[in-house]
Amino acid sequence: MPYLTLPRRREFLATASAAGLLLSQGARSAAAQQGRARWAFFSDTHIAADRANTYRGFKPYEQLAKVAPAVAASGVTGAIIDGDLARLTGEPGDYQNFLQLLAPVAAKMPIAMALGNHDNRKNFQAAIGKHPGEVQAVRDRHVLAVPAGPVRLLVLDSLMMPDFTPGFLGKEQRTWLERYLGASDETPTLVFVHHTPGDNDGELLDAERLLRILKASRKVKALIYGHSHRYRFDVLDGLHCINLPAVGYNFNDAEPTGWTEVELSAEGADFKLHAMGGNLQGDGKVTSIAWRG
Ligand SMILES: [Zn+2]
Repeated sequence: MPYLTLPRRREFLATASAAGLLLSQGARSAAAQQGRARWAFFSDTHIAADRANTYRGFKPYEQLAKVAPAVAASGVTGAIIDGDLARLTGEPGDYQNFLQLLAPVAAKMPIAMALGNHDNRKNFQAAIGKHPGEVQAVRDRHVLAVPAGPVRLLVLDSLMMPDFTPGFLGKEQRTWLERYLGASDETPTLVFVHHTPGDNDGELLDAERLLRILKASRKVKALIYGHSHRYRFDVLDGLHCINLPAVGYNFNDAEPTGWTEVELSAEGADFKLHAMGGNLQGDGKVTSIAWRG
């Protein structure tokens, strides 16, 4: 039996290429990127009908006027805003300005939105005609399931009434969530809600019941919220609990305002902070987290 002679490299490349075994440079990086997605996550824009509205020295209108073009130019393929879109009571004029500011983002990508305690569900629904993903049938609540590459985003609604600080999901929404998680495929799932899941009177009043449902479903990898205007990462029994920074203003000089650019995969996520106001020290910092199994 003759020795097997290996083809010289050039011949091998020619053969392999002819056989379609090799990918071009572009196709190869596309393959490496497959199963990844880059999204913008941010929260608490607090846009008022009055463009000059100021709080703690911040002008939310100007803050979003800086964030929106940056998000639009960043190459992300989707955006999610985690509630408190409007300044205080969710007036139609608030949403009008809000949408106008977001126009450069909306021209390029889907924008999913959650409602916070400073929103008005009726005025929001009237202003925003179309939502990405699937709107879920939960009575009197704005609930979405949105595909984002390798992960699924579930947007819950914790708004009780406009300008009333605490949040509440309620039994019907929690029951829906439990059923949805039981019936959906194993796609890693990130759950968004506006309110912080703490036990203070101004936080999510049924946080404990929500956490029980999320912890029990292994496909749920993270709970993501705003409300406190703080940027923070915690882990609770393997479940990531992520507090997004506010766009509009901070409550404390130590906190940044701005947005996060999030690289998502089936294994975890890298959060890059784009600090645009307040404490700028963490600007550009990447926080990498791995999903629980
Ligand atoms: Zn807020």
